[in-house]
Amino acid sequence: MKLKGGIYWGSGCGGCDVAVLDIHEKILDVAEKVDFLFWPIALDFKYDDVRAMDDGEFDLVLYNGAIRNSENEEIAKLLRRKTKTLVALGACAHIGGLPSLANYHTKQSMFDRVYSETESTDNPDGTVPLEKSIVDGNGLELPRFYNTVKTLDQVVDVDYYLPGCPPVPQQIVNALTAVFNGELPPKGSIIGAGTRTLCDECPREKEEKEISEIKRPLNMIPDPEKCLLEQGLICLGPVTREGCGARCINSGVPCRGCYGPLEEVHDQGIRMISALASVLGPKEEKEIDAVLDGIVDPLRTFHRFSTAASILRRKMI
Ligand code: SF4
Ligand code: SF4
Repeated sequence: MKLKGGIYWGSGCGGCDVAVLDIHEKILDVAEKVDFLFWPIALDFKYDDVRAMDDGEFDLVLYNGAIRNSENEEIAKLLRRKTKTLVALGACAHIGGLPSLANYHTKQSMFDRVYSETESTDNPDGTVPLEKSIVDGNGLELPRFYNTVKTLDQVVDVDYYLPGCPPVPQQIVNALTAVFNGELPPKGSIIGAGTRTLCDECPREKEEKEISEIKRPLNMIPDPEKCLLEQGLICLGPVTREGCGARCINSGVPCRGCYGPLEEVHDQGIRMISALASVLGPKEEKEIDAVLDGIVDPLRTFHRFSTAASILRRKMI
């Protein structure tokens, strides 16, 4: 008997779905073991097909994307009911991801910007999407756009988390293999990633150097062998879970934190502020301020992927 599987995208970019396809020929092994009954980005199945299934009929559902509107939430709840195992796939479902950067704005301010204020907007009637409208005598209903983006586990119970933006394909293979072999860790665990920090798997040389200047990648060519943070680039490696194979680091790009925090860390961004403080060279307040002035947009730098899961969650307005 094959397992019954599903993959769904909420508020995301589709990159996690592509990462599943990026397992290349191993997809054939997966297809031998799983019948995908629902995968909107790849197959044309309808919500009513899922509604008609028995509760718990799916063995495994991978949900990627954050919860940004009422449709994302409704389908998350539907799939939770219909599956035995629900996995939050990717940073958006796990910790909010890039979509949760919207939590530094309000729904109204975003609608104002997109539908009236941008330089390219041509909308003389001020038309904005409405939840309910009548078009040519027919009723049209759109999902409700939420003011606050949420993680998947802020709306439903999640069994496992497969982090990354997107997760490394090999990690997806490892996680699926664990499911097939019945070797899953306790509920609530991270699967497909390690338990140490990215610094622990990073091949760059660390010299325990202090930082006296914050730099930006666009203004420098970093030494290819040495730690990026010690060269003044904000690298979230010290507070980010290992498992990605240091792909960005190996390309000379500092870690942005997409694999999320370690188990015991409540807020990845705040932990990074603390990590940074411990390696700052200057000790006088004025000099410290001068160094910190080099951090452009600290809020989004430290919580780039984790705003929805952070203790800030959203900017209070
Ligand atoms: S985690 Fe990254 S790749 Fe996956 S849906 Fe979100 S933005 Fe896209
Ligand atoms: S801070 Fe970044 S570059 Fe430095 S060791 Fe950690 S992951 Fe590597």
